[in-house]
Amino acid sequence: TKHFPVRRRLRQILRKEHDAVHAVDDVHLTLRRGRVVALVGESGSGKSTVARLLAQLYPRTGGDIRLHGASTRVKGGRPFREYAARVQMIFQDPFASLNPVHTIRYHLTRALKIHGNAGSTADELEAALHDLLTRVSLTPPERYLDKFPHELSGGQRQRVAIARALGARPEALLADEPVSMLDVSIRLGVLNLLRDLKERLNLAILYITHDIASARYFADETLVMYAGRMVEGGDSETVTQAPAHPYTRLLIDSAPDPDRLTGDAGALEEDRGNGEPPSLIKPPSGCRFHPRCPAAMPRCSTDRPVPLEIGDAPGHWAACWLYDKAEAA
Ligand code: SF4
Ligand code: MG
Repeated sequence: TKHFPVRRRLRQILRKEHDAVHAVDDVHLTLRRGRVVALVGESGSGKSTVARLLAQLYPRTGGDIRLHGASTRVKGGRPFREYAARVQMIFQDPFASLNPVHTIRYHLTRALKIHGNAGSTADELEAALHDLLTRVSLTPPERYLDKFPHELSGGQRQRVAIARALGARPEALLADEPVSMLDVSIRLGVLNLLRDLKERLNLAILYITHDIASARYFADETLVMYAGRMVEGGDSETVTQAPAHPYTRLLIDSAPDPDRLTGDAGALEEDRGNGEPPSLIKPPSGCRFHPRCPAAMPRCSTDRPVPLEIGDAPGHWAACWLYDKAEAA
């Protein structure tokens, strides 16, 4: 649970306008090794904030993050350092996340050294560097090691960012829109690489996206966020093929082509044509979707919906009063 004081939020907005910080509220998720969880929502839904909270890039005002059942509450303490190594983040823009004045060798060496994985001799370091680049299919490694980020394509840079994350020998990757800035033709290749790494290294992956079609393709479980809250969750097949929440249905209906995997970063927002996501500085009361919901009932503007079981598949739930059995009875 995270409420940003407004002053902090404004400062963040000033600093990085397109990625303004939003409060997220009552968000629960569990990552397990060998599984991909997709967190789907429009820009401004709070999905990136969830990733940054999980990466502990933001201090949180409440709630807890546990690693193997142990709280990571004490920042700077041993649990936090352990957590920082085990949970690595991959950002949307691989160019911004790599320092242009340093070579690939520098970036990867630094990651290996920080996490104590550089070996004790120059040969061991070289072997570890080759191993990282080979894992992300940048081969032969010597072709890439001494290049600068601008000498690589966007897809190659994102592979370097993934290799750098692997240098920590993580258990979990938090991937925030990892392919949305890449050329459409290479997105699938990067997602397939992540899936391959997940299997080989038994990684947990949180895949953050605005593109629900790619969630179906890539993730085992899908969670949908709206205005800082989770509104629906379940296995990806069920959530994408039999969506229960009116907002999820809207997302799916507005996705232009289910086979295209993913479109332009702003496609959803432009195509939707049914109002804008609300400001999170003063979110709507009750169900935050009620001003846009075609099925809204009187109670929706006053009562906050709780997660309710849908009953069509194990673990499928939606926070929507349409599924309140007491109401229906
Ligand atoms: Fe629509 Fe009401 Fe369900 Fe919210 S709780 S999605 S307003 S029907
Ligand atoms: Mg974002």
